[in-house]
Amino acid sequence: MRQLLFGAMVAALVPVGAYAQTAADLAKGQNDTRNVLNYGMGYDLQRYSKLTKINKTNVKKLVPLWHYSLDDNRAEESQPIVHNGVIYITTNAATMAIEAKTGKQLWKVKVEYPPETPRIVCCGIINRGVAIYDGKLFRTTLDAHVQALDAKTGKELWKVKAAEFKEGYSMTVAPLVADGVVITGISGAEFGTRGFIDGWDPATGKRLWRTHSIPLPGEPGGDTWPGDTAKIGGGSTWITGSYDTETKTVYWGIGNPGPFNAAVRKGDNLYTNSVLALDPQTGKIKWHYQFSPNDPFDYDSVAEMVLATLNIGGKPTKVILTANRNGFFYVIDRATGKPLAANKYIANVNWASGIDLKTGRPIETDVPRKARAGEQVEVQPSLLGGKNWQPMSYNPAKNLAYANTLNFGLNYKAIPAEWKVGEWYLGIDLSLGFVWPKDGPRGYLKAIDPMTGKSKWEVPSAIPRFSGVLSTAGGLVFSGQLTGEFEAFDADNGKKLWQFKTGSGIEGQPVTWEQDGVQYVAVTSGIGGVYSIFAGDERLAAVPPGGSLWVFGLLPE
Ligand code: CA
Repeated sequence: MRQLLFGAMVAALVPVGAYAQTAADLAKGQNDTRNVLNYGMGYDLQRYSKLTKINKTNVKKLVPLWHYSLDDNRAEESQPIVHNGVIYITTNAATMAIEAKTGKQLWKVKVEYPPETPRIVCCGIINRGVAIYDGKLFRTTLDAHVQALDAKTGKELWKVKAAEFKEGYSMTVAPLVADGVVITGISGAEFGTRGFIDGWDPATGKRLWRTHSIPLPGEPGGDTWPGDTAKIGGGSTWITGSYDTETKTVYWGIGNPGPFNAAVRKGDNLYTNSVLALDPQTGKIKWHYQFSPNDPFDYDSVAEMVLATLNIGGKPTKVILTANRNGFFYVIDRATGKPLAANKYIANVNWASGIDLKTGRPIETDVPRKARAGEQVEVQPSLLGGKNWQPMSYNPAKNLAYANTLNFGLNYKAIPAEWKVGEWYLGIDLSLGFVWPKDGPRGYLKAIDPMTGKSKWEVPSAIPRFSGVLSTAGGLVFSGQLTGEFEAFDADNGKKLWQFKTGSGIEGQPVTWEQDGVQYVAVTSGIGGVYSIFAGDERLAAVPPGGSLWVFGLLPE
């Protein structure tokens, strides 16, 4: 594959061999304060750092040290990976290595797209970052390829096609390397595709396994789809999973069924809106749990499956935490897939009155029944959910999940959907619009108690936040605004302690690390994701696009 190298290739910043990242390094990533080796800042996706150098007392002295142009006018949702003083970051169009202390570009490699690559994807032309392993970087591309690069030089090592983009598939997900296997998901459920998760050999790019997120007739769960509907049943896998190294289990969330019009696919529609527990070596499904069967409302269940150990009934219990798009916060037993708690974490949920913990199924109201019958309904939360993809943070010391939540509904009506290869396949009337709160905030940053869903504190926001969240042992919670402010809050009460205005809107994933005794915080700025595309929020009209990476540190004494 052709590729272009830009800028100086720095021969030896660090000793030869220092680029190796082993499975053992990745496994202790959540405790490695000098690097950010994993998506989610650890296989547990907690996005929590033990660093305390930047803390409640001194955060007001936090200043930008440098910023770097991503040369891209799209939503910037890539999580920086930091290793040995080098930051690796992506856009849909390029992969870059940057010296962490100075912001100097070490190398930049463009992604070469065929001219016919569709530039219309569901919810923004973006990329969520690289995985690092064994001296290599792994990323996905919009035209549904997986690529490996030499971390030192950016040289392409291999590039393989995962799916045919002309059929509606695309890739934005950051890969996960678990037990020596590169694991990727796929996007495209809104285009009449059939989702899957792939495992790849990191050395060669050979596909080791593919697990479809939707079983066909004759396979286990295949009877939850009528006729041929499974073949185009959606089930994207567009957010990176978590990984339990002790049991060698990957937990990966599955998106909505397609089309949205549920009447044409009567049944539970496994494994849409589920979490799968997978063996990373084979892709074999160990168990599944479905959050929203036969979903009409686009309640993708891809949002991060955070791993934690909670004290439940006096017993330390290994669980998954997830703030589902359907408005419920779930605590799931990691060994069995049984929900242990499931409570509303947003004020307005009208499609279900609760979750039956015995059966695991939602207790539906009349709203889904009417929606499936073709009646117009107001549904809460909207198809963007109580929380969208933007990752939360979990502070294990305080047992609080910090999440950017959404506070609006949708006027919903199903209409017939016609399937054509590679085209939108929705079956709802999108002209009816959102139901906005009257004069109220459209979003909150909340500190959520996992077992009750209740907030210890919440910070309202007129325009909802679509940023990832980072929390630290310094008593801080970092987040960002679509209007560009990068913010730090007191983790105990939500009081805003600091902010800095970046040049565009923040939809990125803040991270922190330390190098030579100095703590750094990084985040990308760059507007253009799902809310800015679909919400028609005029208050964002004056927010210019323009991607950049910002790195902050304390003002030197
Ligand atoms: Ca979706």
